[in-house]
Amino acid sequence: MSNYEQLLRITSYLFKFCSRLKAGNPKKKALKYWVKIAQKEYFSVELDFLQSSANITNNIPPLVSSLNLFLDLMGIIRSRRRISKCLYFDFDVHNPILLPKEHRFTSLLIKHCHLKIQHLGTGTTVNYLREQGFWIPRGRSAVKTELSSCNICRKYTAFKLKIEHSTMVVRKTLQHNSPNLL
Ligand SMILES: [Zn+2]
Repeated sequence: MSNYEQLLRITSYLFKFCSRLKAGNPKKKALKYWVKIAQKEYFSVELDFLQSSANITNNIPPLVSSLNLFLDLMGIIRSRRRISKCLYFDFDVHNPILLPKEHRFTSLLIKHCHLKIQHLGTGTTVNYLREQGFWIPRGRSAVKTELSSCNICRKYTAFKLKIEHSTMVVRKTLQHNSPNLL
C-alpha cells in the first residue's frame, strides 16, 4: 500500500466489521493497530521492559531513559518530552507516540504529513510530525530520505536550479555588454 490515508481507511473498514471492536472511532483504532505493529517490530526490548511489572532501575534500555518512554493506557509507547511543562499543547504533543524510522508505516506517515503541508521542507515536516503527536528517533534523516524521493519536490528543485542558472547567464551577459550600467 502506498498511501497513509488509504491504509488507515481500509484498516478502519475492517475494524467496522469486526464486532468486538464496534465501539469507538475506527480510524483511531486503525492508527493504534499500525503503531502497535511498528513498535512491536522495532522496539521489542523497550516494550518488554515497560510491560514488565518488575522493571527494576538497573538494566533500563538506553532508549527508555534517554527518551523518557512510558506506556499509555492503550499499551502504546510514548515519550514524555520536556515540552510537557507547557500548558498550551495537548496530551499527544506533550507525549508523542514513538515510531521507528525504518518502518513502512512511518514512511507513509511522513509522506502524508509532507503532502499536508504542501511540500514544505525537512524542518517543517519534522515539526508538523511533532505537532501531530509523533516522535521518530533520528526523524530528520528519515524525513530527508522520504523527501528525496518526492517527485514534486524533485521537479521543483530542478526548476529552481534552471531558473537560477538562466538568471546567472543573463546577469553575466548584461555585465559583459554593459559594464557601466551594473
Ligand atoms: Zn514534496
